[in-house]
Amino acid sequence: GDEITLKEFAEQLKLNPTDLIKKLFLKGKMFTINSVLSYEQAEELALEYDALIEKEEVVEESFGEKFSLEEKDKEENLEERAPIITIMGHVDHGKTSLLDTIRKTNVAGGEAGGITQKIGAYQVERHGKKITFIDTPGHEAFTEMRARGAEVTDIAILIVAADDGVKPQTIEAISHAKAAEVPIIVAINKIDKPGADPTRVRTELMEYGLIAPEWGGDTEFVEISAKFNKNIDMLLETILLTAEILELKADFKKRAKGIVLESRLDPKLGPVADVLIKEGNLKVGEVFVCDETFGKVRALINDKGERVNKVYASQPVEILGFDTVPNAGDVLYAIKNEKQAKKIVEEVIKQKKLKEQNRTKHVSLESFSKQL
Ligand code: GDP
Ligand code: MG
Repeated sequence: GDEITLKEFAEQLKLNPTDLIKKLFLKGKMFTINSVLSYEQAEELALEYDALIEKEEVVEESFGEKFSLEEKDKEENLEERAPIITIMGHVDHGKTSLLDTIRKTNVAGGEAGGITQKIGAYQVERHGKKITFIDTPGHEAFTEMRARGAEVTDIAILIVAADDGVKPQTIEAISHAKAAEVPIIVAINKIDKPGADPTRVRTELMEYGLIAPEWGGDTEFVEISAKFNKNIDMLLETILLTAEILELKADFKKRAKGIVLESRLDPKLGPVADVLIKEGNLKVGEVFVCDETFGKVRALINDKGERVNKVYASQPVEILGFDTVPNAGDVLYAIKNEKQAKKIVEEVIKQKKLKEQNRTKHVSLESFSKQL
């Protein structure tokens, strides 16, 4: 759950609880063995010990499951799909630079300045194989989406600056990727810098179980310079090799399931959302539901800013035609008809209200008993 007692915490970290209490006491924090720590508190405390704690995730049944909106894959329709990649790492270690460099050097084969718009993700092609990079989720978005059952990553790139080494957000990123059971590729960045010490980074990461094959582990490491475009090809190559092992497949023929990455209200176009299609295909004119909203696809705009009629699994796309603005992390399902869509949305809203009421009741009962 979201909480852990100090005793459980000490057990997870293999610490003596008495020592831990003393240590906290010296810092002016009063705890007993039965004190309850929030997950955030525990995480912060764990960082002081350079450790990670594991959180039990509660994933609720999504409305898609509840209403059986998801069409089943047909074995004979399964095709290889592009891997979906998220870049994570400590601030200033080069996430944005890496995303930019990959985009600039690989989008549409040198079509300079050809990117007219920025949507929440983009695809590059290498040796005829596509790779999808997610541009949006920071760490919070990533965990938030996962908590809602929206898995948006097949492989995580952990970027670590060679002149700075492992930092708190590096550790956080590792813990998120591990919790999601997503394979990690380490990109040691800024190797062009005079103070770069890639070996130190490798040594530091050993503690977190990220060990290169040549050191007896199974984590791929690539030494890069995002700024000077060095070894970026090698990184893409490594991504494709890792993806091959994962055997990522999707049914391209069924109705789409997608995840909202970003959304906004455009003064001219109305509600617009950047959606990552996870399964199936989506066509202009199709009806869809998306949590508390629904719509009919009015236009699909790909990552190159082109209008297209149809998009497929692993493709990011901007969708026009939402009734109201959806939220990041909402799951979109293409469905058969508008009448059904409206009914589902009504039901979703009704159930959310009910849940909210129950929650309020629970809270007031608790505060009531405290007063006694
Ligand atoms: P982010 O916070 O992880 O998105 O990091 P940024 O991409 O914004 O990079 C932070 C700073 O490091 C910027 O000033 C970049 O120009 C610089 N930087 C990023 N990659 C490299 C690199 O490979 N070499 C050098 N020398 N600087 C880099
Ligand atoms: Mg950045």
